[in-house]
Amino acid sequence: MNRREFLAKLVRYGLSAGALSALPVERLFAQEFYPQLTIPIIDAHAHVPGDPYLIHTDDMPGYTFEAIRNAKLCATTMAVIGDDKTAVGADSTYMQAKAGIARVRLWETEKRVKIVRRPSDIPSQPNITGPIPVILAIEGGDAIGTDLGRLDEFYGLGVRMITLVHGRAGEGGSGDNPIGNDMRRHSSADGNDEGLTEFGYQVVRRMNRLGMIVDVAHASTQTLLDVASCTRAPIVDSHTSMLPPEATVREHGRQRLYSDAEAIVDTGGVVCTYPYRDDAYGRLTLEDWVEEIKLFRSHFGMRYIGFGSDSGGGVPRIPEWTGIGSVKDLQHAMRSGGLGTLEISGFMGLNFLRVFARCHAIAQVLTYLKA
Ligand SMILES: [Zn+2]
Repeated sequence: MNRREFLAKLVRYGLSAGALSALPVERLFAQEFYPQLTIPIIDAHAHVPGDPYLIHTDDMPGYTFEAIRNAKLCATTMAVIGDDKTAVGADSTYMQAKAGIARVRLWETEKRVKIVRRPSDIPSQPNITGPIPVILAIEGGDAIGTDLGRLDEFYGLGVRMITLVHGRAGEGGSGDNPIGNDMRRHSSADGNDEGLTEFGYQVVRRMNRLGMIVDVAHASTQTLLDVASCTRAPIVDSHTSMLPPEATVREHGRQRLYSDAEAIVDTGGVVCTYPYRDDAYGRLTLEDWVEEIKLFRSHFGMRYIGFGSDSGGGVPRIPEWTGIGSVKDLQHAMRSGGLGTLEISGFMGLNFLRVFARCHAIAQVLTYLKA
């Protein structure tokens, strides 16, 4: 394959001319010929190591700084919790998110992490000794309150992705929030699911304008469909797993219907999957996960599926998954399952990078046009 053919291949993966200019293409090209170069991995959803606000901190083995470094990621998300209403003080979700952001920013001053501010800050190969590139995110748009100005503030602090809904019921959170509804509280057939609120529409619009990635993980089906219908940039579900294609209703839980995925795909976005063990649907091993990926590929192609570990996917998780280091085992399973280097690269990070690059580029256009 010559350079031109390789570039054509990349373009088919959705890396538009604008996004390509942000990518170190030569290094990706070299990987075809030097397989010892690492497949670029970007974890689309993970928590902040040692986050005191996490529900299941004890359930995150293998998500220390050292483990992240050893897994040789090109970048990892660090999502601060934005909807825990048990923290002290008024407006606690906002204060809590700011405290989480401050922790990560402190690590940046200590050169432990480097906060990714634009797509080109993500290297094509992992930096083994330098600071870990971190995509700063907020899981739970409750932290925005009803103040759009906070989006500008969060962006200024380095936040590049927000999970609109998180749904921490029983932790002082109602699940639903001023933006939209939570998928565990509303089945896909719930006639009372009013979806995205008026304020939620404004949030999506402002995030598009800023170049923040809109994450519909945890969002109810109607909320997802509303976001997909109004967004001007691709969206992601940063951590989920797929129901079988024949399923037409999601009763509860965190899995996505194919019709949900289609709405995300139609925006040019990515459905990122995680190591959740799903006894009901026989998603028990890495091989099962790979079969799910291949089934998704047969419906939508490989451009629209990605990887978000959720720092282990909560519990239960696939037993072979012992930490972020297991991403290498998933790669091997994908290889054994017949997936090629570009397909694995797309899943492991390039598809998510494409979305990030598109969001960044669209924001520039919207700002230029004052749209
Ligand atoms: Zn989550």
